[in-house]
Amino acid sequence: MAHYQGLIHRYRDRLPVTDSTPIISLNEGNTPLIELINLPKKLGHSGRLFAKFEGLNPTGSFKDRGMTMAVTKAVEAGSKAIICASTGNTSAAAAAYAARAGITSFVLIPDGQIALGKLAQAMMHGSVVIQIQGNFDDGMRLVQEISADLPIALVNSVNPYRLQGQKTIAFEVIDALGDAPDYHVLPVGNAGNISAHWMGYSESICQQTAACGLCNGQCPYHIKALATRRPIMLGYQASGAAPFLRGAPVSHPETIATAIRIGNPMSWNLAWAAVKESGGWFDECTDTEILEAQKLLAQTEGVFCEPSSATSLAGLIKDLKRGKIKPDATIVATLTGHGLKDPDAAIAQSAQPHRVAAERQAIGHLIQRYLKGSDLK
Ligand SMILES: *Cc1c(COP(=O)(O)O)cnc(C)c1O
Repeated sequence: MAHYQGLIHRYRDRLPVTDSTPIISLNEGNTPLIELINLPKKLGHSGRLFAKFEGLNPTGSFKDRGMTMAVTKAVEAGSKAIICASTGNTSAAAAAYAARAGITSFVLIPDGQIALGKLAQAMMHGSVVIQIQGNFDDGMRLVQEISADLPIALVNSVNPYRLQGQKTIAFEVIDALGDAPDYHVLPVGNAGNISAHWMGYSESICQQTAACGLCNGQCPYHIKALATRRPIMLGYQASGAAPFLRGAPVSHPETIATAIRIGNPMSWNLAWAAVKESGGWFDECTDTEILEAQKLLAQTEGVFCEPSSATSLAGLIKDLKRGKIKPDATIVATLTGHGLKDPDAAIAQSAQPHRVAAERQAIGHLIQRYLKGSDLK
């Protein structure tokens, strides 16, 4: 198999690029679709459950999928600088792809509300980091104003190339499973990602939307189609930042899941369309439920995602328990970012290290206590 060179190379026939487009890539995409084996048993789910682990992108989140496209198109258009507002991961991706392209990046982040790993990334890649005394929604408004006045490309998900890049996640899921799953669940913040998932799934089915009456599976539209159906889309929000549940923007969003601490989502209509057309729904999870899901996944499956990402699982667990999802369904959960992004959240909710003398006996006693309490005997 040819050396993987990133998602624009992989899916260039389905993306807005030409042979002369200067592709800016860090080999993003191609993330593992990990089948969860212990959780379904625990949850009494007889169907298959997969995690699409976007934490394994080059900067540790799905934002790289959108950023390779947005920066590629900005460079193609002659931009020398990009700007974004960010709850953290967009700034990390913008910083890295700008470094790769040799252009300047400006990132606006909420004061004191971004996870440590994400801040470190933006700083390390040489971004101009601007910490504003406001939240993400304030930053979003400001970068829209600034990019309208100055020769700087806006790379938030209002930039249509972001969603174009992000839609490739659906292509990868279909490539891996041979068809769309029954359900696709994910966290919703600014709502670009759920919109992009739906776009990718929609482009993969028969494009003949009107029932033509001729369909015997042999029509050219069907032969070109990569999937026979689209999944039901479920979007989960944090209770303190759940505008889709409230039916209106939320002015002071609050949640431990900082990547989805957003009150005024930019892709409001697209996200609603995805949920409605697919027969899905939005729901909300408390911070406690989110952290429990994050820990459960880490400790039963060995997969470490950040709190925001675990919202997909927290919501799924509730909907499985309530019987809203068929027990034999095939489900894909997008895990949007890596757990290492937010070490503070992980350490705060985990068992703290034991402090003992550097002596064989002391450590032996401790280990014995654990062995007695376990199946390992
Ligand atoms: C950006 C982000 C989200 C939210 O995605 P939207 O497209 O804004 O809805 C969720 N989780 C993580 C880790 C993110 O970085």
